[in-house]
Amino acid sequence: MINRRKFILGTAFTSLFAYFGITYAKARKSLNPLVGAKKAFPIVISTWNHGLAANEAAWEIINGGGKAIDAVEAGVRIPEGDPKINSVGFGGYPDRDGKVTLDACIMDENGNCGSVSFLQNIKHPISVARMVMDETPHVMLSGAGALKFALDNGFKEEVLLTEKAKRAWENWLKTSKYAPIINQENHDTIGLLAIDKNGDISGACTTSGLSWKLHGRVGDSPIIGAGMYVDNDIGGAVATGMGEAVLKTLGTFLVVELMRNGSSPQAACEEAVKRIAAKQNAKDFQVGYAAINKSGNHGAYCIHKGFNYALHQNYKNVLVDSNYLMKD
Ligand code: ASP
Repeated sequence: MINRRKFILGTAFTSLFAYFGITYAKARKSLNPLVGAKKAFPIVISTWNHGLAANEAAWEIINGGGKAIDAVEAGVRIPEGDPKINSVGFGGYPDRDGKVTLDACIMDENGNCGSVSFLQNIKHPISVARMVMDETPHVMLSGAGALKFALDNGFKEEVLLTEKAKRAWENWLKTSKYAPIINQENHDTIGLLAIDKNGDISGACTTSGLSWKLHGRVGDSPIIGAGMYVDNDIGGAVATGMGEAVLKTLGTFLVVELMRNGSSPQAACEEAVKRIAAKQNAKDFQVGYAAINKSGNHGAYCIHKGFNYALHQNYKNVLVDSNYLMKD
């Protein structure tokens, strides 16, 4: 009798335990869709074909066991310092007054972030943004204040307008027609995301912004949640293209929130692009998003054909064409 009672109680406890165990596992999964997902990191992903060289620099750091935050900074410094790339850093096309003005932001796995906007004469705005993050109680410095901060902290003032960029600007001045270029020579802002071997996510974004913009214009790239956003529990996203459209929808924050609610990186990028197209006349401008989730799965989407991204995963670094919304 005692044995039978013990047996019944034992079975009841086991069943209850199993029931609550399964329910708990289900609840955890519905709270965080990534629990139990297969891991596909380390990974580095970045916008446009200048991302290939940036990815290499970032990969070297994470492959050596370094942190994602160091990798994303080192990665985007490559196009920033390359005078051949006319949409980032040194060699970037100027505004309509002939001034090269730079925007950048960076974010780590703890939600720390730093940003600079409308910064002139400093070749590596991403490293100034990193210093804002690491050394100040602030998130964002702008214009003359950002420049003073950079100079006070050892950065050198340099002429960033190359002969090639100056000639392009002088050529533009002949008509002074302002029309957004959908895919600027296939080189635009670089946004780069990385997951290191520890599973930590960081992101960086840096640009000279739209060519021939109004002097003083700041786009999406230095705005946390617009040009780039990371949440170490969920994933990260970067944006490129018409900054105003991204700003109006806080695009990368939206992508990460969609992933938090269960979307894959691909579905989240698609939804964020559709949000833009639903409310803005997206016929004449480009926006592209790239995203990763905590497990290292990735996705990308854009409005028009032409956006591509560099993907470094499984020891291969390849350029991938993004799918797009407007097919005709
Ligand atoms: N998003 C950048 C800006 O609006 C430009 C770009 O990605 O081409 O400043």
